[in-house]
Amino acid sequence: KMNNNITVENYNENADVKIPNPIRTFEEAFSHYPEILDEIEKAGFVKPSPIQCQAWPIALQGIDLIGIAQTGTGKTLAFLLPALIHIDGQSTPREERGGANVLVLSPTRELALQIESEVKKYNYRGIKCCCVYGGGNRRDQIEIVSSGVEIIIATPGRLNDLIMNGIIDVRSVTYLVLDEADRMLDMGFEPQIMKILLDIRPDRQTIMTSATWPEGVRRLANSYLKDPMLVFVGSLDLAAVHSVTQKVEILADEEKRPRLTEFLTHELGPEDKVIVFVGKKLVADDISSELSLDGVHCQCIHGDR
Ligand code: AMP
Repeated sequence: KMNNNITVENYNENADVKIPNPIRTFEEAFSHYPEILDEIEKAGFVKPSPIQCQAWPIALQGIDLIGIAQTGTGKTLAFLLPALIHIDGQSTPREERGGANVLVLSPTRELALQIESEVKKYNYRGIKCCCVYGGGNRRDQIEIVSSGVEIIIATPGRLNDLIMNGIIDVRSVTYLVLDEADRMLDMGFEPQIMKILLDIRPDRQTIMTSATWPEGVRRLANSYLKDPMLVFVGSLDLAAVHSVTQKVEILADEEKRPRLTEFLTHELGPEDKVIVFVGKKLVADDISSELSLDGVHCQCIHGDR
């Protein structure tokens, strides 16, 4: 509750798994992994983010996890650091695993590249990653995958292409991440995901993140995760930024202009700046010329200008 009102529950109400307490410090999560702590220290982070506090103890126990969180919440490290520990902890020697242990599916190449750059900041036991996405140089991607990597970050289309051509074998994957699942569904990737998941062993650990929690994402959770725990960051009202005070005033139409004038002339500090959004170009012109006549420095922007 103190930590952004984060909530956690068993997705299946009947599941009889005890929800672990959140960790409060990096040491509480990674005291057995000093090299991970060193990497966190190098990054200069002061404390774990809310999603990390609750996601790490779950993921580190091997439990499936759904994180309802947006970009900027630290969700990537929430699944990535347990992934590094997962890779290192497999009993089969690395050279005998026949491929990557960790697969991260991402809706877009931008997100895939962003995850890759995050992974590359962390040096842990020589773990290597590669990023495969449509539009990138296929031959270069094949070369890196074939050189042996432990983590593959991929968009579904290109990954399927490389699986079908026998270049990537996902049977070695034991830790699967579906990042931004809601966006993957919006982009129509569900059939591709289904196809990829057919070949991934069912006893894998699966982590899913999503900014929203609609029916489609629940369907994925039902189909592909096993007794997951569900972590919500803050309330489901995810659009609110906690560092900004938001105030709503409900006014009748005729009260709006006088209220705006009063706000701009009486409630602003000398250094404050304001953006006023309106519905029509005409209203933008109108308000800006009125304000200029009142001596308020102001410009208007719209499609005709
Ligand atoms: P993400 O939500 O994964 O897109 O992460 C957003 C940014 O927050 C990334 O640049 C991370 O490196 C950074 N970050 C992740 N965890 C922490 C943390 N505990 N403290 C400060 N920054 C963090």
